[in-house]
Amino acid sequence: MPELPIYMDHHATTPVDPRVVEAMLPYFSEDFGNPASLTHEHGRRASNAVEEARFSIARFFGVQLNEVYFTAGATESNNIALNLLAPGDHLITSAMEHKSIVVPAKRLEKHGIAVTLLTPDREGFLDPDELKRVLRPNTKLVSVEAANGEIGTLQPIAELGAICRERGVLFHSDVTQAAGKVPIDMTNVDLAAFSAHKLYGPKGVGGMIVRRGIRIEPVMLGGGQEKGARSGTVNVPGAVGMAMAFRVRGEEMAAESEWLTKLRNELWDRVVAEVPDAFVNGPRDRRLPGNLNISFDRVESDSVMMAMRHFSLSSGSACSSGERSASPVLTAIGVPESLAYGSIRFGLGRSNTKEHVALLVDDLKRNIGRLREISAA
Ligand code: PMP
Repeated sequence: MPELPIYMDHHATTPVDPRVVEAMLPYFSEDFGNPASLTHEHGRRASNAVEEARFSIARFFGVQLNEVYFTAGATESNNIALNLLAPGDHLITSAMEHKSIVVPAKRLEKHGIAVTLLTPDREGFLDPDELKRVLRPNTKLVSVEAANGEIGTLQPIAELGAICRERGVLFHSDVTQAAGKVPIDMTNVDLAAFSAHKLYGPKGVGGMIVRRGIRIEPVMLGGGQEKGARSGTVNVPGAVGMAMAFRVRGEEMAAESEWLTKLRNELWDRVVAEVPDAFVNGPRDRRLPGNLNISFDRVESDSVMMAMRHFSLSSGSACSSGERSASPVLTAIGVPESLAYGSIRFGLGRSNTKEHVALLVDDLKRNIGRLREISAA
């Protein structure tokens, strides 16, 4: 019997890889200097560590060293990217995006920035032809995530970015869920956001890619670190840990995504075959390897999660847990409200096994059957 509860919420966060912890440790109490203190050896050591980390991340994404910026995570990076919009500008994004895009976009609307939302199809894909149709002369930025954290859809960012490039519009992609899970084509991406803790790195550290020549409007003003784009002392252990996480992902991603896709498909096929009235949300192909999202008719996801106490699961994005409204992503792809309320997101990751999947299917069958009997009685 495996150790319980079994973690299956790898889109919310991931455990820190021991190799990452090991790389970080010296930067807490030994090489603890402030990377901006270049007048002494302590500071220079910290600065060297940060610059080495920047190099690893630049290499992972295939971008220039000076195009990588450290932040406190993808929320901050997304907010900084959208902050380059000014009144009179037009922003194009979608209802599929993470709240750290959707919520600032709503605020921008109140400040004189026009916002257009692209419409996903039933599997969550955005349509490059629609993007062509809604571009305006004053469109400044298009923001589309590389992968969706709820239903796993991988967006055609190379194609969307190419359209933007042709029209002289900046293309931003939140690559938080995709980074380290699937290859990302950065050719046409001008700005990107990522967070270390989604790829077996530490929480509270992330970064952004900003291509040379793009003027960033900082959200926070202060000491001018990160070329003024993100004031505040860089989280040195965090940056070092994130770089190690990217290095490990670079080496292990391809093999892992292959077996994770197989494991996910096994879970998918078994649940659909063995649990009546279970409907998968999102596509079979062009999907995050560890992602599965299933709507179970005639049950509430909260009751399912409570009954499934041997598993750590989610009903949508963790940031909206506790709120009693249907997931905006499921609503956007046309899942009826009654089904959206019975949706569970399974986030498989490195620690999961075939045995976990077998236990999960048994538990789901039993618990969903029982919950349906109770509600029908
Ligand atoms: N974007 C996406 C797609 C995410 O999944 C998340 C984390 N749920 C974020 C941004 C925000 O990341 P963080 O909470 O680390 O700032």
